[in-house]
Amino acid sequence: MPAVPSPKPPLTLYLAAPRGFCAGVDRAIRIVEMALERWGPPVYVRHEIVHNRFVVDGLRARGAVFVETLDDCPDDRPVIFSAHGVPRAVPAEAARRNMLAVDATCPLVTKVHMEAQRHHENGLQMVMIGHAGHPETEGTMGQLPPGEVMLVETVGDVGRIEVRDRERLAFITQTTLSVDDTAEIVAALQARFPAIVGPHKEDICYATTNRQEAVKAMAGKIDALLVVGAPNSSNSRRLVEVGARAGCGYAQLVPRAAEIDWRALQGIRSLGLTAGASAPDVLVQEVIEALRARYALTVQEIETARETVEFKVPRVLRETA
Ligand code: SF4
Repeated sequence: MPAVPSPKPPLTLYLAAPRGFCAGVDRAIRIVEMALERWGPPVYVRHEIVHNRFVVDGLRARGAVFVETLDDCPDDRPVIFSAHGVPRAVPAEAARRNMLAVDATCPLVTKVHMEAQRHHENGLQMVMIGHAGHPETEGTMGQLPPGEVMLVETVGDVGRIEVRDRERLAFITQTTLSVDDTAEIVAALQARFPAIVGPHKEDICYATTNRQEAVKAMAGKIDALLVVGAPNSSNSRRLVEVGARAGCGYAQLVPRAAEIDWRALQGIRSLGLTAGASAPDVLVQEVIEALRARYALTVQEIETARETVEFKVPRVLRETA
């Protein structure tokens, strides 16, 4: 007698909403696509336009060339600056070489750059809360002369910084940090430097905040959490940490469905699924299909916010040719 296939185990899948692409990532990708249409390939992009291999490979196949410095770009082809922003020296160098440069820096990152410049003009030294080596941190710190921005990554760092004048200080933050960790660092800064000024809350953007809130809302219901996103995506990694901190026993980053550790999910009855701001929905759907192949799925969306933010592309791409 043929073996009777065993029924799939039941699994309740909670889908976080919002999840995936934010307005800044959507805009940055549109900028590269429109630049390729307008000027034809190759179009150079300084750094991964957004931190997602799938997105980058797709654009590369259409003629985008990803480079880490302007030295690797010819003078006579367009160059695009990534959503994370660039130090001031980069557009200055592009202008010096008469290059056609299109800035895909997210407007919410540009807002932080302008905040830093305003404080600097008012004679304040800056403290930046962020991650060393992340392109957004490098871009924001690079808005001001060397030594004007001190980086702190942890509460411990706050005790170690040496400031010029404790009465003339301001802080800014990376846009993709953990809301809760950042609040602790801000509190430590305010305790050590009561005169420090800063944004109303912090500079963490709406998309980062909303995705973290959705994970917190589902954390009590789930046995495990999967976050679709790339290992170098700051906001995706923060979602894993937020899930773990909210009590989720197993929280894992999965760049693609093929990388799910099925053994770690053995015995679970409920699973949360979200995606970082640079992860396209097609990768979320791929994970859902992989889950459906193994489980009898019941899907439920946990919606904590509706997003309507949209950003225009730069004028040079809006003008008719
Ligand atoms: S995560 Fe926030 S700051 Fe970064 S691109 Fe998206 S909207 Fe802009």
